Amino acid sequence: MSFLAVLQASQLVTLAGPKRPRVGAELSEIGIIRDGGMLIRDGKIDMIGPSDEIEKELGGAEIVDAGGRVVLPGFVDAHTHLVFAGNRLDDFERRARGETYAQIAKAGGGIWSTVEKTRAASDVDLFAQAKKHTEWFLRCGTTTAEAKSGYGLTTEHELKILRIMRRLNKETPLEIVPTFLGAHAVSREMRADEYVDLVTNEMLPRVAQEKLAEFCDVFCEGGYFEIEQSRRILSVAKKLGLKLRGHVDQLSNCGGARLMAELGATTADHLEKTDELGIVAGSVYALGSTSYPRAREMIETGLAVVLATDFNPGSSPTPSMSMILSLACTQLKMSPAEAITAATINAAYSLNRGNKIGSLERGKLANFSVFDCEDYREPAYWFGIPSMHSVYVRGRRVLLRADEN
Ligand SMILES: [Zn+2]
Repeated sequence: MSFLAVLQASQLVTLAGPKRPRVGAELSEIGIIRDGGMLIRDGKIDMIGPSDEIEKELGGAEIVDAGGRVVLPGFVDAHTHLVFAGNRLDDFERRARGETYAQIAKAGGGIWSTVEKTRAASDVDLFAQAKKHTEWFLRCGTTTAEAKSGYGLTTEHELKILRIMRRLNKETPLEIVPTFLGAHAVSREMRADEYVDLVTNEMLPRVAQEKLAEFCDVFCEGGYFEIEQSRRILSVAKKLGLKLRGHVDQLSNCGGARLMAELGATTADHLEKTDELGIVAGSVYALGSTSYPRAREMIETGLAVVLATDFNPGSSPTPSMSMILSLACTQLKMSPAEAITAATINAAYSLNRGNKIGSLERGKLANFSVFDCEDYREPAYWFGIPSMHSVYVRGRRVLLRADEN
């Protein structure tokens, strides 16, 4: 039985509040305890409050002195493409020269180049690269990450990616929430309708049978999957017991958000150009666009806004939630408190884990980060500086390469 006491956090940011996603003004209520502390038993929070009250209950606990630093819940990244091979450095450079996504794809870049590398990678190599990605997330204070397949686009390779996620869950401290995104793009080897048949008749039943994914996602965009094709895929997924997410309206407004609402999807992501209902993702910066989602309107209309990195090799090569907090404050005009809520408790609810993670409250998992600063607004403010002091998952300090000297 492990017993741990965290003491002397300048601000212990609890995110304590109602047991549901936070909307409107609630996004600003982050439950700060000054000079805060907590007791952690067997990986769960047993008591939380001012340090001097915690100190009265120490009896034999191992002490973690936060040393006047800020403590936040582990970030929950509700949208990533964590498992892929290689990188897209050539695309990155082409984009810098002013080439469009269409020109880059024609020159052999784009998603298809990542599909080819991911298919060709051995299990050993693909696992090793994905494991490195999990270390990046942990080092940035993210303790749970949703991860989508979608760089395989054959039954064999989609299953290979999902099985790697299952192994990451067992062998790394990062909690992975697996999403099947076979409908990330239409495979080059077949027509769109043939590919949709493959997804619905073969991939989805296998994914469900092996219990490889919790969610099913579809890239519902003009040129990818049309509304009717998306509806077919998501309907089959729903029947098989998967929960639904959606990549919608990133490049054009195709009514995908309405489809997601109609099918009862948990989230509709991206939404840089949608009219209603939404979630925020972070690929706009890296694409060099300025068309950011209208987060203020979303908050004011009462949506439970979620921030995510959309970590992927093409449009968003960052695992850093602090970077996303910075973008949220400077580009989306969210306050630091709203951004933190969107990256923790709201993200946890969007992954159906709001009862376990996303806030520091009695009974929840002791997933938290100690930031090397005194004020919770600093991680969003000092951008580009690694501000992490230490990261804990289930009350255990996560070993990171940066620590090992
Ligand atoms: Zn994405």
